[in-house]
Amino acid sequence: MGIPTIPVSHNMLFVLDPRFGDFNRDIVSDIFRSVDTRFAEVLGTSQSSSTIMSVILYASDGIPMCSSTSENIHHIYLCCKGGDYSILMFQFAHEYCHHLIGGELKGGIEGLKWFEETVCEVASMYHLRRMISDWKRSNDAEKLHAVPEIQKYLEHLEKPSYSASSDILRHLKMEGWIEWYISCYKQRSRPSSNAVAVKMLPIFEANPHLWRIILHFGDMRRWKTLDELFQHLRKADSSYEAPLVELQVLLRSLY
Ligand SMILES: [Zn+2]
Repeated sequence: MGIPTIPVSHNMLFVLDPRFGDFNRDIVSDIFRSVDTRFAEVLGTSQSSSTIMSVILYASDGIPMCSSTSENIHHIYLCCKGGDYSILMFQFAHEYCHHLIGGELKGGIEGLKWFEETVCEVASMYHLRRMISDWKRSNDAEKLHAVPEIQKYLEHLEKPSYSASSDILRHLKMEGWIEWYISCYKQRSRPSSNAVAVKMLPIFEANPHLWRIILHFGDMRRWKTLDELFQHLRKADSSYEAPLVELQVLLRSLY
């Protein structure tokens, strides 16, 4: 007997696993599809924003991640219950962002990999926001019922005590904050990594086409400095010049 799967779209397959628990298959497929569709909209790409097949699996080691197989299929590992819609969206949007960036999908935080992680954190919050506004207008009773919980979850991610406590901001003002930031990543300390993402989110909210920068990231381990990366991004596409400057000014203000 084959492994049970749910086809989500022509290039996305969800592999069922008892550890996801019981859940509404339509809603979960809808969450996965909505991230793909919305990314395609803001990136200005066709119907589906990726030609690479992605397979969604349960993360046995408890760490959500996106990895690549030798056949160039991306495996997106999630670690939550299928009925925990906010956490599911949070994890999936982050990993799907890695999938779209398509750089070397290996562990480690060399070069500007930390910045890719930060942008993926922004993606999580960005898609959670969109989910709330979509679900608020839905006719589906289960979606409507879930909205307050998702709102609470997002507020928790964005609230100062979690994302930008004075301690974190003090570190961000220090010289060498990037080294500190990377060390937080190595320790998998999400509150600190989230602090910069929270500050970046409004720029992406106001300028959704800024998401196009991820199409030009490539392997982020090859960049040594943000200035080097931003110079490359500016040359690659002129459509996001103004918000890119805004993003650069923000990041410079942090160190
Ligand atoms: Zn990540």
